[in-house]
Amino acid sequence: MKSMLDLSTYIKLIRSGEVVAFPTETVYGLGADAWNPSAIRKVFEVKGRPSDNPLIVHIADSEEVHNFADKVPDSAQRLMDGFWPGPLTIVLKKKPKVLDLITAGLDTVALRMPDHPLASEFISKTGPLVAPSANKSGKPSPTKAEHVRADFGDNFPVIDGGATEVGLESTVVDLTAEFPLILRPGIIGEEELGSVLNMEVRVASSEDEKPRSPGQKYSHYKPQASVKYGRIGDPKNNTLYLVQNEFEKSENIISYNGDLSLLSKELYDRFRQADLEGFSAIFIENIDDHKKNYPSLYSALLNRIQKAKR
Ligand code: AMP
Ligand code: MG
Repeated sequence: MKSMLDLSTYIKLIRSGEVVAFPTETVYGLGADAWNPSAIRKVFEVKGRPSDNPLIVHIADSEEVHNFADKVPDSAQRLMDGFWPGPLTIVLKKKPKVLDLITAGLDTVALRMPDHPLASEFISKTGPLVAPSANKSGKPSPTKAEHVRADFGDNFPVIDGGATEVGLESTVVDLTAEFPLILRPGIIGEEELGSVLNMEVRVASSEDEKPRSPGQKYSHYKPQASVKYGRIGDPKNNTLYLVQNEFEKSENIISYNGDLSLLSKELYDRFRQADLEGFSAIFIENIDDHKKNYPSLYSALLNRIQKAKR
């Protein structure tokens, strides 16, 4: 069912301190006015999100960065020029006025400008929005409006923009340390960032004892069905298979023919499908063949699969 509301209704909701889900190119976000503490508290309540997991501020105008970041180093400007609007979140030292609720008390703030016409129009009218993924904590991120409704109810305000293009959350890069550090892999990888910055970009290990990105310590992206990954043996009926090459025609075997972008776009939808249709497992065939040609996409996808496995 498509929403009967138009954008102006959603804009009013934000202005009155409510939360609204909206599409971006990555996943659907749960938006709230970044300057309204009680609206931000609602985001944590609705999601059931631990309060020590900070939120990304979404903007539609790059000038807004200066209202949140204390300093915008040359490296940040280069990344903004090179990748915004787009699936890249930049972590910078925060201005004192940025609410602690957003940053979970950290002295840094995460910022992103989404690349989606509805998101841009919406945020340009509401002003900056905090927006974590619009799912209940522990559920896969929503890539369709119906996923948001499945988690928050049929009457939940969601701007329906259809299926999101990327399907995986943004790359998060921290520019506050001595070298740029990717805290969360996404479709923009260390090579792309490094070539724009002209310096080495490192990737935080997920085994880091004290994660710099607090979100890393939570097990996100988890369906009810157990997630398996590797080489596929004899197919079983109670398992949904996401395979690279079609080896058998069957309703529970979905072939991606090496299209890693399509697998990324659909992964969370398939997780939800597996649960809705009562599969006890979802088996993703090994994607190592793509490591060389699509390194960033490969790492981002593998990261989500591994998180879902735990
Ligand atoms: P989500 O909104 O669900 O996509 O999650 C946002 C991600 O960004 C989480 O992994 C957070 O830990 C991370 N994040 C947000 N703000 C910061 C920050 N100031 N420093 C480091 N990581 C952050
Ligand atoms: Mg999330």
